[in-house]
Amino acid sequence: MKKYCFGIDVGGTTVKCGLFQTDGTVVEKWEIHTRTEENGRLILPDVAETINKKIEERKLKKEEIAGIGIGVPGPVNENGDVAVAVNLHWGFVAVAKEMEQLTGLKVKAGNDANVAALGELWKGGGVGYHNLILVTLGTGVGGGVIINDKIVAGPHGAAGEIGHAHVEDAITDPCNCGNCGCLEQVASATGIVRLAKEELAASDEASLLRKGPISAKSVFDALKAGDALAERIVERFGCYLGKALAVYACVTDPEVFVIGGGVSKAGPILVEYVQKYYKEYAFSTCKSAAFALATLGNDAGIYGAAKMML
Ligand SMILES: [Zn+2]
Repeated sequence: MKKYCFGIDVGGTTVKCGLFQTDGTVVEKWEIHTRTEENGRLILPDVAETINKKIEERKLKKEEIAGIGIGVPGPVNENGDVAVAVNLHWGFVAVAKEMEQLTGLKVKAGNDANVAALGELWKGGGVGYHNLILVTLGTGVGGGVIINDKIVAGPHGAAGEIGHAHVEDAITDPCNCGNCGCLEQVASATGIVRLAKEELAASDEASLLRKGPISAKSVFDALKAGDALAERIVERFGCYLGKALAVYACVTDPEVFVIGGGVSKAGPILVEYVQKYYKEYAFSTCKSAAFALATLGNDAGIYGAAKMML
């Protein structure tokens, strides 16, 4: 009888680790440092060591452990191989195979954003649903697609890269991906700052935003204070994102969009502006898709990694 499972989320500075019961109850959470030196060759041995230590410390039997799920910041194929993970200084790494050799346990690996989507479906903003799109609004725009409780990874590991859809012809400076006019350039924290600067430059209209440093947070704070210029910025943001989500809905027919990442701290008002445009543009059958805020924060990755293994 399997009683436990490990969920691991490998980031560029820390590795988040979780020991779970198979029903999703967290037994223990902890972190270790990510050693990226020497092309990151120490990372997986370090993860294996901390897991092996935990098994020993808690006197767990290997036959009680379903396995290890591991999320990494890069494209992961179905075999659990990563082609490249820049933040970890990795080229090709056979993550699942190497971890199995190091621990003697079953291992599944996935892209960190996709894994986070599974975590939100299991224990976060998407509980009760089976088909979800996670939209992560941070420095960039990331995401993950879940269909029938399973991650859609794609043969290149690129499924769920929702931030790199082309949405604006007028943008001529490149996105981090090299293309121009990506959703990420208008709907991330930096994208909202871009829209704010454009609106501020377009008129002399009084605005709270003229007083201080501009950030996604200051834009939403100004909106909440009734600032008309801030409202125009958020309308534009909501329009770009709502339209894009309407396109994605035609492809995967999600039951729920879960919005996470730092920008989502703005709260329900953000969802309101996105959903308004989503409803305007979505195909009639998709209009009723629910919207929810993510609830697991930085723990979505360990939850999803554990679930992936179960
Ligand atoms: Zn891009």
